[in-house]
Amino acid sequence: MRRAGTVHVVGAGLAGLSAAVRLAAAGVPVALCESAGQAGGRCRSYHDARLGCEIDNGNHLVLSGNRSALGYLRLVGAEDALVAQPAARFPFVDLGSGARWSVAMNDGPVPFWLARASTRVPGTRPADYAALLRLARASVHATVADVLRPGGPLWRGFVEPMCVAVMNAPPARASARLLWAALAETFLRGGRFARPMLAPRGLGSAFVEPALAFLRGRGAELRFNTGLRGLETAGGQVTALAFADARVALGPADRVILALPPARLAPLLPGLRLPGEGGAILNAHFRLAPGVAAGLAPILGVLSANVQWVFTRGDIVSITISAAEESPLMAAPEHDALPTLWDEARRALGLPATCAPEAARIVKEKRATADQSPEGAAARPAARTPLANLFLAGDAIDTGLPATIEAAIRSGETAARLAAAPVRELEATHD
Ligand SMILES: Cc1cc2nc3c(=O)[nH]c(=O)nc-3n(C[C@H](O)[C@H](O)[C@H](O)COP(=O)(O)OP(=O)(O)OC[C@H]3O[C@@H](n4cnc5c(N)ncnc54)[C@H](O)[C@@H]3O)c2cc1C
Repeated sequence: MRRAGTVHVVGAGLAGLSAAVRLAAAGVPVALCESAGQAGGRCRSYHDARLGCEIDNGNHLVLSGNRSALGYLRLVGAEDALVAQPAARFPFVDLGSGARWSVAMNDGPVPFWLARASTRVPGTRPADYAALLRLARASVHATVADVLRPGGPLWRGFVEPMCVAVMNAPPARASARLLWAALAETFLRGGRFARPMLAPRGLGSAFVEPALAFLRGRGAELRFNTGLRGLETAGGQVTALAFADARVALGPADRVILALPPARLAPLLPGLRLPGEGGAILNAHFRLAPGVAAGLAPILGVLSANVQWVFTRGDIVSITISAAEESPLMAAPEHDALPTLWDEARRALGLPATCAPEAARIVKEKRATADQSPEGAAARPAARTPLANLFLAGDAIDTGLPATIEAAIRSGETAARLAAAPVRELEATHD
């Protein structure tokens, strides 16, 4: 028998986990259901038989200014599971010219790093960076390429790679407003807020397992392989949840949070305006012989190549191609794409031509993020819905941020706050 006032959270990606842990921490009864056999959604770890080790579905980068992500980790007791790099330093290599450089920001809000040519993108002047501030005044209809003039060393060496990485969309498609929101919380506050934070033991150990342990410890009900099929509604409320093998009737004080991406929300809430499909992300993972990867940079940006970023974690070198629908390698068979990708990663890392991986695997996420164009951003739904006891969470809910870990976790915080509010308060504020 469930307690009255249970919040049913549907979807155990980071948005659902974020909502669930906030509610559980506040003493609210939580029932979390997930259609897959494991939690984590698009941010998960799993054992890969070919590589013979646990890998992440894709490289994920969090920055030290991502306050919701860090607050979530603190709440579930996993703050040590993400390790901040000692400085906001982003090494790059251009495989065309062979040039290597680092964007290396100082910690404070005044960008002294722009004064030194050695810490800027080569060929740029300090004044070039002021153009980034134009994003702050961008219209809701503008793309990044509408606001910042394409071409030139700053564009090629910073704007384009950062835009593709953060937005999973090229500048000609990415919403200027969304990119600004991400920059304003991180890079533009100074290096202290832009340090790369990586999970040395993987995404699952950082974001997923501690949250599940936290929920179990607070008596939350967790159900896997339990996909929501439909909602029954009456009188402006959700009255029951329909699963393949069960119908769960809701009491008057019960609430529901759907923490699902747009493609999964659409069949449950027909008529709700939602962003369409967005970019794909291709990751390739290479397992090197023990010790070969020791001392390599944990993160490296790559220009003039298919590969955009190389991440090194233990013996695994992983490459990322965001907005991968634009890459010819997305459609190529794995046995054709892997040698090209390894050759680029190896050269980027400065490894000898004789260095070959012991095993390799490509992981393609076709629906990595929803449409992040200005049109997609305008179609994002709010956390509140016309149904008084139903709230939405997920990286494509209108948080103002691009679809990232930070957005997913923040959306969960908001949905939890709304779902925990007393019924009268909700009625008074519902618009
Ligand atoms: C390869 C890749 C790389 C990325 N890199 C970064 C990065 O570097 N930095 C960053 O910040 N972000 C990155 N992201 C984005 C980040 O992973 C997502 O924004 C975030 O994980 C989304 O979480 P979510 O909870 O909103 O959605 P999801 O993770 O999609 O969670 C939704 C959950 O709901 C479940 N579900 C679906 N339908 C139902 C149903 N009917 N009933 C019950 N459960 C259901 C799904 O199985 C899933 O577990 C990346 C994403 C990918 C794919």
